[in-house]
Amino acid sequence: MIVVMKPGASKSQIQHVVHLIREYGLKEHIIHGTDRTVVACLGDKRAADKGAIENAPMVEKVVPILAPYKMASLEVKKDKTQIPIGADKFLLGGTKIGVIAGPCAVESRDQILQTARQAAEAGCIGLRGGAYKPRTSPYSYQGLGTEGLKLLAEARRQTGLAVVTEVVGLEQIEQVCEYADVLQIGARNMQHYPLLEAVGHTQKPVLLKRGMSASLDEFLLAAEYIINAGNPHVILCERGIRTFEAYVRNTLSLAIIPALRERTHLPIVIDPSHGTGYAYMVPSMCLAAVAAGADGLIIECHPDPQRAVSDGAQSITPDILKGLMEKIRKVAQAVDRDV
Ligand code: PEP
Ligand code: MN
Repeated sequence: MIVVMKPGASKSQIQHVVHLIREYGLKEHIIHGTDRTVVACLGDKRAADKGAIENAPMVEKVVPILAPYKMASLEVKKDKTQIPIGADKFLLGGTKIGVIAGPCAVESRDQILQTARQAAEAGCIGLRGGAYKPRTSPYSYQGLGTEGLKLLAEARRQTGLAVVTEVVGLEQIEQVCEYADVLQIGARNMQHYPLLEAVGHTQKPVLLKRGMSASLDEFLLAAEYIINAGNPHVILCERGIRTFEAYVRNTLSLAIIPALRERTHLPIVIDPSHGTGYAYMVPSMCLAAVAAGADGLIIECHPDPQRAVSDGAQSITPDILKGLMEKIRKVAQAVDRDV
């Protein structure tokens, strides 16, 4: 909570406010600005009566600090952030919904080029695909690394799609920046603070995935790390959280869309693939996400899901994607958006 004094408040009037807030068991931190003095109150703010303090002489207003994050907050920036993506500078966070599709992992030249072509034909703006994969088991497929990045760049040259790919470790950032249009920070790394700061030092848009047990505040504080380090282009990606439920891989919390809208100006993208774990659930969750106000979708799509090296169960085919895009368009238009 912050008490803003009116310009010209006297020392004794400021001291009076300090006494009041001390009576509430709070500590004061006085900031003398050029025009006015501000008294920041430290401690359990719930004990203080905002209205009562506002009633004190020469107090202009009492501003509750609603959120621990600042730069990510609507309190600091009211208009929605629009992030230019790729060579076409598609504005994510604008009227149009940006759809990103592609396999969980880049597996081969044919696989990524075919997927990219069909995703572009369907009307997607981005191609996803991990070259570096964060796998639960060290024995699982770890990705093609540099070779995978080169294949993604080739797919971009052929289709014009923006490349979205994950940076798993600090040492990869420089190289991934050479090839990617958007840096993905995976759910497992959402609280890897040195990594967040390091991508914050780049100029690339960052797709930040919500940690699988991260609260909304923790998610926004992770975004705050990136913005605070100098990169305002943060895209929030909900990808489902761990719950007791077993009928899904993760529980896709679509209610986070309106909750985030109340708190932040950053664009919101939904990942219905990791958010459910099953291909058959992906189309309906895409439509629901768009209806609920998502700015974009990131969908796992594989030409042959049954033979995918990772996340085959949740990958849709390019044919399904094509039909789905038409439905996404209709829902988007129903909520005054488009694709
Ligand atoms: C992915 O996008 O393939 C991925 C690993 O996602 P997450 O970090 O959300 O698990
Ligand atoms: Mn995956």
